[in-house]
Amino acid sequence: MAHRQSLIAGNWKLNGSRQSVIELATAVSAGCGHLSAEVLVCPTSVHLGDVSTITADSAVTLGAQNCSNEQSGAFTGEVSASMLAEYGCKYVILGHSERRAIYHESSEWVASKCQAVQKAGLTPILCVGETLEEREAGQVESVIAEQLDAVLNSASIQAFDNMVVAYEPVWAIGTGKTASPEQAQEVHAMIRARIAAHDNAIAQALRILYGGSVKPDNATTLFSQVDIDGGLIGGAALDAESFLAICEAAG
Ligand code: PEP
Repeated sequence: MAHRQSLIAGNWKLNGSRQSVIELATAVSAGCGHLSAEVLVCPTSVHLGDVSTITADSAVTLGAQNCSNEQSGAFTGEVSASMLAEYGCKYVILGHSERRAIYHESSEWVASKCQAVQKAGLTPILCVGETLEEREAGQVESVIAEQLDAVLNSASIQAFDNMVVAYEPVWAIGTGKTASPEQAQEVHAMIRARIAAHDNAIAQALRILYGGSVKPDNATTLFSQVDIDGGLIGGAALDAESFLAICEAAG
């Protein structure tokens, strides 16, 4: 079986001041040098310059929370993947449920962003996940299949060679309700099997993160599941001590 290095990604969302973000980045950078997991922080785009200066000489990797599917031109307010690359970003979170729900990003749109990110030499963190209504209606598999297939259809299975998938049940994000380790594992295994149906080697190497109210006290059992390769962390990533404890749980 392919060895998959754990990845813990902090999604800082629209939080913090310039000063508080500098302090958070400094504390995370100082505390993660000994970890075997890859540690990633994703501040807002406007904070990337400050954070990249702090993380440059540390073990912390830098990422962004979103980007345009366009490279340049008349797209007011957008930021391109190549601009993010210039600031040292290695990853871009795409298709987060907040972007899908609040900004009406379709799976096709998210897929075109994946292509733009890969073209700029960065790695997309493709978020997928079902709402509570969809879970209760027995639609978990079909919802996630649609979200994955949009990428497969617009590119090819090779796109998953340079991709991280984050399973984030919408009902668990920011709610304090975590999927049980068994519930999460079941979906992670389903995602890996869907990719394996196209290319088993790519599927075995693919890192699949769990996101949704991960905290220091539930991280260890979640990360011990065979198909959970780390986490996408929201609320707990805003506190350096909690975030580092979650990183420790991943190794
Ligand atoms: C997220 O923002 O992707 C997330 C998982 O948030 P939280 O950890 O707060 O549920």
